[in-house]
Amino acid sequence: MFYTIIENRLCSIILVGDEQGLSHLHLDTGEGKRQFEIIEDWIENSSFFDKEIRQIDEYFSGERTSFELDLNPQGTQFQRKVWEALQSIPYGETRSYQEIAIQIGNPKSCRAVGMANSKNPIPLIVPCHRVIGKNGSMTGFAHGIAIKERLLLTEKMMELYNQFLFHYGNQDWWPADSPFEMMVGAILTQNTAWTNVEKAINNFEAELTPGLIRDINNEKLAEIIRPSGYHNQKAIKLKVLADWMADYDDDIDKIKSKSGETLRAELLGIHGIGRETADCILTYALDQPYFVIDAYTRRLFERIGIEVPVDYDDFRKMIEISIPKDLNLYNEFHALIVRHCKDYCQKTPKCEACFLQHCRGRRIFNIKL
Ligand code: SF4
Repeated sequence: MFYTIIENRLCSIILVGDEQGLSHLHLDTGEGKRQFEIIEDWIENSSFFDKEIRQIDEYFSGERTSFELDLNPQGTQFQRKVWEALQSIPYGETRSYQEIAIQIGNPKSCRAVGMANSKNPIPLIVPCHRVIGKNGSMTGFAHGIAIKERLLLTEKMMELYNQFLFHYGNQDWWPADSPFEMMVGAILTQNTAWTNVEKAINNFEAELTPGLIRDINNEKLAEIIRPSGYHNQKAIKLKVLADWMADYDDDIDKIKSKSGETLRAELLGIHGIGRETADCILTYALDQPYFVIDAYTRRLFERIGIEVPVDYDDFRKMIEISIPKDLNLYNEFHALIVRHCKDYCQKTPKCEACFLQHCRGRRIFNIKL
């Protein structure tokens, strides 16, 4: 028997198998009831699991929604029937124990289905994490509830992203001629529509640079950006932003050489830059992946059945732990959420026309972090 241990952003994973196929997959979370021991005469051999490792990587990066692997789980006939049924639950969806019991032709076997589920030796590949309570509750998981929630959230997020991307295509954000213009736009867009920001930016007669902002007096600057609203306050904010740029000689590469956390702390120290604006600047101007949380994101997630933390950073981290840390993904996903909420998921949602049909009027599952 061979085994190997792989790492990913959620936990370590132990794979065990031989020529007959994969017999065990252990999610080493340090939580849950399942104990796992590497037997002395097993041979460590990572190349034996090349195919498994590649497919698991693809799964966690959102590129793969099902596995094509030789499996060799050992169990009773009933257990194997349940495990087979679990493999038919599509990526991003969930089923109740009752639904699985009906699927295997034994509607009264909910309890036994639950037991078979908990004995599944190849979680993830045989997706027992997609089985939840009838009321949407997480129920149990042999490797701890936290990993179950994160796996479901990963699938839900990536499914949503792929649906949005397929439907809308790339959004090519952020619409700006330079990183500094992007930063200016992030401040001007506070409490106003983007069309007003465009008018304000078009009012600048010369190229928009930090030096230009520093050289114009406050009154003149406020007048230029008047279309964006709150122009007096926003003029002060732009001045402070331009002064911050001066600390880096207005050199965007010098700024980018700092760590994301350092830059975030500095941005949050600038008058008028809150967490949403800071994360927009970090992601869209400074190439630092921070998932932007705004009112659209909150509204959409609540409507699709994900209970979101009230605190901005808790919500941001919940998403960041669930999807690959990839700048392009963060960039595009946020832009697509805004697009979808403007087109369909408005304050009064246009559910009848919306292509997310499964979302209509019912919660898919309740995830709490
Ligand atoms: S179905 Fe309705 S609630 Fe769900 S995403 Fe679409 S518009 Fe929003």
